[in-house]
Amino acid sequence: MVGAGLAGLTAGLDLTAAGWDVVVLEARPAVGGRVRTVRTPFSAGLHAEAGGESIDRSHHALLALVGRFGLTTEDRQVDKIHHGVTYWRGRRHPTAEFLAAPGVAVGCERFEAALDELATAVDPDHPERVAAAEPLDRRSLADLLDDLHLDPMARFLLDTRQRGFFNAEPRHVSLLFAAQQAAAPADHAAAAISAMRIAGGNDRLPHAMAEELGDRVVLDAPVTRIEHDADGVRVDAGGRTHDGAWLVLACPLTPLRTVTFSPALPATVADTVHGLDLGSAAKVTIEYRTRFWETGEGSGYTVADLPIGLAWSPTDSYGSERGLLSAYVTGDAAGAAARLADDERIADAARQLDQIYPEGAAQRTLHAATTAWANEPFTGGGYAVFRPGQMLPCWPVLRAGTGRIRFAGEHTETLAGYMESAVRSGHRVAKALGPAPG
Ligand SMILES: Cc1cc2nc3c(=O)[nH]c(=O)nc-3n(C[C@H](O)[C@H](O)[C@H](O)COP(=O)(O)OP(=O)(O)OC[C@H]3O[C@@H](n4cnc5c(N)ncnc54)[C@H](O)[C@@H]3O)c2cc1C
Repeated sequence: MVGAGLAGLTAGLDLTAAGWDVVVLEARPAVGGRVRTVRTPFSAGLHAEAGGESIDRSHHALLALVGRFGLTTEDRQVDKIHHGVTYWRGRRHPTAEFLAAPGVAVGCERFEAALDELATAVDPDHPERVAAAEPLDRRSLADLLDDLHLDPMARFLLDTRQRGFFNAEPRHVSLLFAAQQAAAPADHAAAAISAMRIAGGNDRLPHAMAEELGDRVVLDAPVTRIEHDADGVRVDAGGRTHDGAWLVLACPLTPLRTVTFSPALPATVADTVHGLDLGSAAKVTIEYRTRFWETGEGSGYTVADLPIGLAWSPTDSYGSERGLLSAYVTGDAAGAAARLADDERIADAARQLDQIYPEGAAQRTLHAATTAWANEPFTGGGYAVFRPGQMLPCWPVLRAGTGRIRFAGEHTETLAGYMESAVRSGHRVAKALGPAPG
């Protein structure tokens, strides 16, 4: 197994239970991958998620693991989006009012109806089988939005939401991928989405899973070379060589680009590894002396036509006097944010939050943390996005693997981009390999 994120750890546990002799090789000095809870430099008792954060009520595979390891979840504020603010063209509006403006609700409904109509024809397991798959894959989510000729306020809201959801500009999202995501089974009710986090921090889950796997998990072991033939694999990692019957690549494709494969991967597989990027996502979390945004029923959930795009409160699921706001930067703006030094990225986000919330500037502390995932060598971006034209060639490759090599990870699941996706992919691959022989 390559990678001790949720996908690799899930597959590792399942395969161990199925009698396999498992080794999970992890490049970093810690497990969890894109599940990373940040506690420093915040005041005692505060924490935020640098990566995977919110859990939907329909994320049953993840929630089953949370229960299995004796962890609990804590609920985020109900209806946080409606109780937040929308900053547009220099003015701050209660989001509920913004949504009630003529053209906004209607525009959002028209978009959802148009996407749902495309989705009804798509089998999420086999998006390549839909009629006219090629033109659909070549079109982008932005093309669909353009066709609807939306009111500018609705278009801004949808662009911002979709950019945040896909961690990419709508023009960089294959419409076939967007339709697959809309078709993937999930509970789309507002109260079910982004409803909770793991109490004490999401990293408690990968840590508990790794503890059960014990010394089967090898840290500080970046895989650099993979030999493979019809009988098995030989993997160089962290100065040691490991032989195995199968290899599960439970890591994003970007870090695999520097791994030597011998023999070279078949062209379709190599093209997928080198062509399919993750989207771009960066977070900046800032500590405030008070939760000034909680006046009335304020949730801190912020939508803005500024580079930060979205912000919310990581402290909306647990009690504390002080509060945190996380800016969630995605798409082109996240690419630009990744090119800044950490302190510049923090200062930039702080300036934008001050612009939206002038009353918060005096409450802002110097305790802040940031992660630009594009800069992380063993990740290389946020989460999966298939660009126009990529779904048809890449999806079947990710699902089939090659020879003795299989792919796991959120980017290989019908519902992509979630912690749930990673867990489902781990279960899927382990099930496909079945019980150990003999
Ligand atoms: C900013 C951000 C926000 C997100 N928000 C949410 C959210 O709110 N809710 C949600 O459910 N999900 C969210 N996600 C997505 C979620 O975090 C991921 O889908 C999930 O954690 C991916 O797990 P994984 O196991 O597929 O990959 P990873 O977690 O990336 O694990 C892969 C592992 O492979 C290791 N690795 C890479 N290369 C090598 C190598 N050569 N040798 C050995 N090891 C290697 C890496 O170090 C890593 O530990 C977010 C992600 C980001 C980045």
